[in-house]
Amino acid sequence: MNYRHAYHAGNFADVVKHVVLSLLLDYLKQKDKAFRVIDTHAGIGRYDLSSTEAQKTGEWQGGIGRLIDASLDKSAAVLLAPYLEAVRSLNPDGGVKKYPGSPLVARHLMRKQDRLSAIELHGDDAARLKTLFAGDFQTRVIELDGWLALGAHLPPKEKRGLVLIDPPFEQAGEFDRLVDGMQRAHKRWPGGIYALWYPIKDRKAIIAFRKALKQSGVPKLLDIEFEIRPASREPSLDGSGMVVVNPPFTLERDLRIVLPALHRLLAVEKPAHWSLEWLAGE
Ligand code: SAM
Repeated sequence: MNYRHAYHAGNFADVVKHVVLSLLLDYLKQKDKAFRVIDTHAGIGRYDLSSTEAQKTGEWQGGIGRLIDASLDKSAAVLLAPYLEAVRSLNPDGGVKKYPGSPLVARHLMRKQDRLSAIELHGDDAARLKTLFAGDFQTRVIELDGWLALGAHLPPKEKRGLVLIDPPFEQAGEFDRLVDGMQRAHKRWPGGIYALWYPIKDRKAIIAFRKALKQSGVPKLLDIEFEIRPASREPSLDGSGMVVVNPPFTLERDLRIVLPALHRLLAVEKPAHWSLEWLAGE
């Protein structure tokens, strides 16, 4: 396990992922009933953008760095507000020096009745996450293989909520594991919302991934693609995607406002596109 998210925290892919997460949580908050967030690959939760790792790549400058003080039209600003509040809560003096990972974005947006299970396999990262959430009775940090959690931890007792699956894609076979994990999880908890992150780097792998999802038999799959440049000659992160299973009816409408606004700010080279596509309907 060599992957360290500290090099990538706050980049364009994190922004899109965490915006989608915030929109899903906003929807879940429309009812008073408690929900649970299960983050199967949680990372360390809070990232220092002045760290050696973050400075080395500077990736955050092409992501949250472009968005934090950007002017947005009103409808996009309203939808992005919860996510931006989560970022600003770590940066009370303005700008962006610290960036929240997915468990901290989720935690910021939860109410007192909601719960978070943050799962991380890397020992050091899990220890840092435990320190971050020490004394927080709404959050459970578990040092565990996130793929196993898709069995043992589902369905959660709240019977409402969201599972974020955000693996590092450092090993071959991660796309297959994602489809397999989602299918297993969906069998145990068909009513849950699942958000699966994937990199847009190897286009052949994505074609196979989308085909496998279509053949999975799992209904209601919305695929979000967000590219910042056309396909590079050498493999490079040209974009990122998310497949949402059981998306709230509001998500597609909201993303059609938010994604073009983010794309105007974050795309670096034309032609780059964003898209929303149903891989499976009802
Ligand atoms: N979800 C985080 C966020 O948005 O802030 C970023 C997660 S990062 C892309 C992937 C994380 O998964 C890394 O922290 C890595 O240590 C962890 N990881 C790798 N293999 C894992 C596994 N099998 N189970 C759980 N965590 C794993």
